[in-house]
Amino acid sequence: MERLNRTIRRRTWLKAAGVAASSVLLPAAVVRSATRPRRQLGVALVGLGSYANSKLRPALRETEFCRLAGVVTGSAQKGAAWAHHYDFSGDSVYHYEEMDRLADDPNIDIVYVVTPNALHAEHCIKAARAGKHVICEKPFTVSVAEADAVIGACRTAEVKLSLGYRLHFDPYHEVLRDLAREKEAPFDHIRGSLSFELRGNAWRATKVLAGGGPLMDLGIYVIQGACMAAGGLAPTSVSARQLPKLRPDRFVDVEETLEWTMDFPGGERCVGRTSYNESANRFRAEGGKRWFELEPAFTSSDLAGATHGGPLQFAPVTQQARQMDAFARCILEDRESAVGGAMGRRDMVIIESIYRAMNTGETVDVTGA
Ligand code: NAD
Repeated sequence: MERLNRTIRRRTWLKAAGVAASSVLLPAAVVRSATRPRRQLGVALVGLGSYANSKLRPALRETEFCRLAGVVTGSAQKGAAWAHHYDFSGDSVYHYEEMDRLADDPNIDIVYVVTPNALHAEHCIKAARAGKHVICEKPFTVSVAEADAVIGACRTAEVKLSLGYRLHFDPYHEVLRDLAREKEAPFDHIRGSLSFELRGNAWRATKVLAGGGPLMDLGIYVIQGACMAAGGLAPTSVSARQLPKLRPDRFVDVEETLEWTMDFPGGERCVGRTSYNESANRFRAEGGKRWFELEPAFTSSDLAGATHGGPLQFAPVTQQARQMDAFARCILEDRESAVGGAMGRRDMVIIESIYRAMNTGETVDVTGA
């Protein structure tokens, strides 16, 4: 009975979207999946906001092993328009409340969660329970407990999990990773800042949806860069201080500007800064005679920088296309993602520790990262 009710509710929802009844009833998805290249996996984007629309959708036109095959959205009209304009079946438009139905959709192999941070865990778990591989945007979740829940759900469902850590697929950051691997001398001085002036976009300034302030949203890039500069290791301790709020009315329950330090086991030390009321986008790591610097450091394109060896210059790449193709290849070749749940969880441990340090004023041991 509940299944029948769900079918009726879905038909009503799709009717509101102007999706033809025939496309609801006919197995167009099956026909399409039979005609698309065998090794191209179908991706459903969950949340059709700014990042999904401006970066992921265009990137999916460049991917070799993935294609846009469906969406999960709160707006049936928007979903139908996407299906029409971007050439996927209207059958593969879902509401957040009916993500369990993804299980019956052979067109979808990967579900890519691009909703506000505090909804990531719920949407990832629903995707995993529907038997779909999962990509989760950063930050992975808003707590370590949630990260564990997502990892557990993916393990139980035997699906693979990856994070939207696009910079791991950027050639400038690959240089940093290679330098860190050389292990000649540690990058004992690392500095990174990522900040912008937050206007509009209310969910980013509310703890209930964002999980925190700019640390969750922007500081995570500095954390990622520092861990990369430390050879992929997590810090052993952190300290942090919140700066006085210039707009306390706007940033009521989240930090506005934060400075923190991370000390790593190899002697590397990073000083990070992030703010919703400043503008910065840079990263520098130095140790002995070696150094690496980027500005802008964390954007999707137009990165610029140099090392002790000279200027860096790479042809433009679409980080998101590389990131999604790398995950698709993991699925096709039955390997784990290099930017998977363990790395996402590590970053949540670090973020929780930084918040603890900020709230207590103490240096916090980072254990379990
Ligand atoms: P956005 O506000 O533009 O889009 C969020 C989407 O979620 C919207 O479509 C909105 O309708 C939907 N949504 C569903 N439930 C919602 C609810 N209860 N409240 C508010 N919105 C709801 O945000 P965005 O900038 O696209 O960010 C989405 C996610 O992507 C965030 O987790 C963010 O950290 C991440 N992101 C990553 C990058 C990157 O470079 N990797 C860049 C931007 C954003």
